[in-house]
This record gives sequence, C-alpha cells and structure tokens, in this order.
Amino acid sequence: MFDRASVVTPGGVNSPVRAFRAVGGTPRFMVSGTGPYLTDADGREYVDLVCSWGPMILGHSHPEVIAAVQEAVSRGTSFGTPGEGEVALAEEIVARIEPVEQVRLVSSGTEATMSAIRLARGFTGRSKVVKFAGCYHGHVDALLAAAGSGLATFGLPDTPGVTGATARDTVVLPYNDLDAVRAAFAAHPGEIACVITEASPGNMGVVPPADGFNAGLKELCTANGALYISDEVMTGFRTSKAGWYGVDGVGPDLMTFGKVMGGGFPAAAFGGRADVMAHLAPAGPVYQAGTLSGNPVATAAGLAQLRLLDDAAYAKIDAVSAELRSLVGDAFTKEGVAHTVSSASNMFSVFFTDEPVRNYDDAKKQEAFRFTAFFHSMLEQGVYLPPSAFESWFVSTAHDERAVERIAVALPAAARAASEATA
Ligand code: PLP
Repeated sequence: MFDRASVVTPGGVNSPVRAFRAVGGTPRFMVSGTGPYLTDADGREYVDLVCSWGPMILGHSHPEVIAAVQEAVSRGTSFGTPGEGEVALAEEIVARIEPVEQVRLVSSGTEATMSAIRLARGFTGRSKVVKFAGCYHGHVDALLAAAGSGLATFGLPDTPGVTGATARDTVVLPYNDLDAVRAAFAAHPGEIACVITEASPGNMGVVPPADGFNAGLKELCTANGALYISDEVMTGFRTSKAGWYGVDGVGPDLMTFGKVMGGGFPAAAFGGRADVMAHLAPAGPVYQAGTLSGNPVATAAGLAQLRLLDDAAYAKIDAVSAELRSLVGDAFTKEGVAHTVSSASNMFSVFFTDEPVRNYDDAKKQEAFRFTAFFHSMLEQGVYLPPSAFESWFVSTAHDERAVERIAVALPAAARAASEATA
C-alpha cells in the first residue's frame, strides 16, 4: 500500500507526521479502530497511543458517536445553509469556556489559527504576530517559522514557499521567556497585533508553560494593545472539560480549537471576545468563510463526543495517563536511560535527557536516536506511538486495564532497546 501511495502522493502520506521518516521504516496503513486498538492492513492489532493525534479521546468507534454520525448522514451530508447542529456545537463550546462569547466554526485547526490571526490584524490594524519557537499552529504561512510538530521531527527551520514579506511580520521568540516578549513589544511599539501561543505546547514534545507565563503574556498583550491568542487545538476539551483554560484560568482574547471538538471529523473553531468577533464578516469587515464550515455530520460527531466528556471521563483519562507515565518512567529508570517524562494534565511525552526542558532548544538537546529504537520495539510488540520524539502521546477513556497491561508488557524490552541504541 505504501508503494502504491508513494506513486500518487508525495512521500506516500497526506500529512508529513504520518510518515516514518524520523524513525525509519514503513508507515502502517490502518483499516479499522475499536476502543484503544487499531488494526492494520496486515491484520495486526496495536494499542493506539496517538488517538489520531488527539481527536479520539473516547477511543475508536465509540457507539454513541457512530450512532450520531449515522443519524446525521441519514438526513444528508451538506446543505450550504445554517443548521441546528452547528448552533448546538457552538453553544456547547461557549458554555464550557467562559472567555469564548462567540465562536465561528471552520474545518481544520490551521484554518482556525489563520483566521484568528487575520481577525487580530483586522481588529488592531497592526501587522506583526509574535509566536514561540517549537509551537505549531498548523501550516499557516505566517506561523511556520520555527514551528514544532513535523518541522521539529524533520529538523526543518522553516519552509520554502513562505515569502520574506510574510516572514518579516512574524516575530519568533523562545518559549517560556517573558523578558523576550517584553523586549519584542519595546522593539516594535504599536506594531504587534497579537501573541499566539499553544495554551500548553505539545508539538515540541510536551513542554508546559512555566508558572505565570500565560498570565504574563495576557498582561503584556493588554498593556500593549495586542490580542492574546491561545491555541487550544490540541489541549481544547482534552486537558480538562474547558481545556487548558480550565487548568490555568487565564482568559485569552481569542482561542482556537480543533481535534477533540470534531469527534474524528474535520471540525474546528475560533472564538473569544464578542467585540472582537463582531469584526468578522458578515457582521464586520474581516472576511472569513468556508463551504463545509459547520458541516452537519462533523458537528453531530463533535457534539456527541463533547456531551460524553463529563467529569468522570476526564478523571478516567487523567488516571490512565498517570499510570502510563509511571510505567514508562520506571522502565527507563530500570535500564538506566536518562529521561524526563514531561506532562501537562493528561498529555505527556518522553524526552531522552534528564536536564529540564523549558523550550524548543532544550527539547532538541535530547538523545532522539534512543526514541527510534524505543518506537520500533514498541511497534513490533503491538503498541503504536507517534513516530517522532517531538510529539505528545494521547490516551482515551477506552484505554482500559487490558490495554495498559499490553503496554506494560512491551515496555521493558523497548526501554532496553533505547538504552542499547547508539547515535
Ligand atoms: N494548532 C495546534 C496546537 C496543533 O497541534 C495543530 C495540529 O496538530 C494545529 C493547530 C493545526 O491543526 P490541523 O492539523 O487540524 O490543521
């Protein structure tokens, strides 16, 4: 299948992070998923610790999500008119996340961040955008500078195709460094439209914000007339009922969402202060649109998933994550592998270093070659990890005792492989 794919698709994949370039080997083609398991085209079953890169927080093929999708499909797949499903999904988001007074639905996280930045520029009349090295906000031109995720995985500093003019309006700063943000506002008075940050980064591995970092960002933005945009595409509806906002309580001017809110379908959103959102067309002059925005099938899936995500669901995900973090840490300690299990709520990843990791430069200092050996040993034993040392691992409510046990059984040999690996 990969040979076939490579003929008709660049690199054989439709999103670079799915390729196994960083770890070597051939990506698995999955044909079905049930609960915490994926089955590939050769009939092998894996415990899934990728969860479609975040969305599948209830596991695969959750019966109530599937039923909602089937019911929606039976009524038609796209109308190009307003519909009740999109209103209900927007109401659910607004009810969960206090700083979001109004929301606009889109189809991908990339669209959400791209639109939020356009809106911030339109609202403030300024052009510059501050972002942090190692934070990934989708493949928006202005945000691809020093981005994490696939760019971190493949060691790409930037990408060809982004013009100098676009890059000049992006100011890239080290993560967790408020002094650098202060200096940027001083260097560009009245020019910075917004600061965008992952609410808690998961695209350079998991690197949580230092105490007071997000609050400091908000304060500096307010003091300097810029908007504070919190990208919760990954953390939204995952790290708590109200995402990372539910963890640190720092209220952004604009927020972006995706992944979990689509229930495995292409649905994403941006939202925030009503006075800012009022600048969006057709209410205001900042244009933004989408043929499939608020698609009835996607919104039905997202709504069904969000409604199942109650306090008990988050308690379960948090508990599974804590158990896995402890198993993973113990396995590496036993084999004498220098490591840090870094977590933010129930998101976590392993850095192959015992030095603190506070930003992208720190993350890049890890012995990533050890991950390659670890990854392949886990894969051979039926555990599917993200094929990169710079990505978060994801768990779901479906990761039960049997799934955890299968991971526990695989870990000792994989940790040994990591300890024996050479650069
Ligand atoms: N923002 C963050 C924090 C993300 O993690 C991602 C994707 O991984 C995006 C934006 C882009 O979302 P999408 O892949 O749906 O375009």
